[in-house]
Amino acid sequence: MFPSDENSESTESPICSAKGCRTPAVWVLAWNNPKLHTPQRRKTWLACEEHREHLSSFLDMRGFLKDVVRLTEWQDGARGSAADG
Ligand SMILES: [Zn+2]
Repeated sequence: MFPSDENSESTESPICSAKGCRTPAVWVLAWNNPKLHTPQRRKTWLACEEHREHLSSFLDMRGFLKDVVRLTEWQDGARGSAADG
C-alpha cells in the first residue's frame, strides 16, 4: 500500500512507507512528480533505515527524488520556508 493522504496528522509514530514494513520511520523522502504535481509540491514517503535506499532509489530512478532528510529534522524544519533546490 502506498501512502495517499499526505495531509493526515497522526499522533502515533510514523511508520515506514515500504510495502509491508511496520518499522518506525527515521527518514523522510521528499519527492515530486512533474507530470502530476506543481514544481513546489512535495510528496513525502517515510522510510526506516532498511528501506531508505530502496525507496529513494525508486524515486531517484524516475527523477522524482528531491530530498532525503531525517524525520526529526523534517519535523523541525518542515513548516514554513521552502528551501531552494
Ligand atoms: Zn521499512
